[in-house]
Amino acid sequence: MPNVRFVFLVPATQSEREPMATDEGVKQTCHVCDQPLCVSWTDTHGIAQCWTCGAPYRVFHYENGVRAKKEPELLLEEGTLDEDRQCYAETQARLSAVGMGLSFPGGYDVATAEDHRKLGDWYKAHTEVAPVTAPKDSEELR
Ligand SMILES: [Zn+2]
Repeated sequence: MPNVRFVFLVPATQSEREPMATDEGVKQTCHVCDQPLCVSWTDTHGIAQCWTCGAPYRVFHYENGVRAKKEPELLLEEGTLDEDRQCYAETQARLSAVGMGLSFPGGYDVATAEDHRKLGDWYKAHTEVAPVTAPKDSEELR
């Protein structure tokens, strides 16, 4: 029986819990959880999640089809940041890449079943707040 070795390919840049930093070396902070911004890729090209809270960020930017150098862009729906911060502060639950339509079920996602349960309970108790959905322009990236 041959010795079979599995190799898992992980994107080499900024994916492995190393806080993202500007060109000047300034560590970046997540807009939702206020922790150093360490990210994990989703199944959507160029989109990653905050490892701590699951907030989605566009890490790769393109202009006219060419990679452009820009800071990570938070992709939560405009005007929902206060609610998202409140939800994270109260639940410590991570947003789901699958729930936001950024990853396939079974794909890359930082959220656990426990996170899903906590988020569901929080939204049931806060019916005035719409659950987080896919970023508006994520469809164009597929
Ligand atoms: Zn975060």
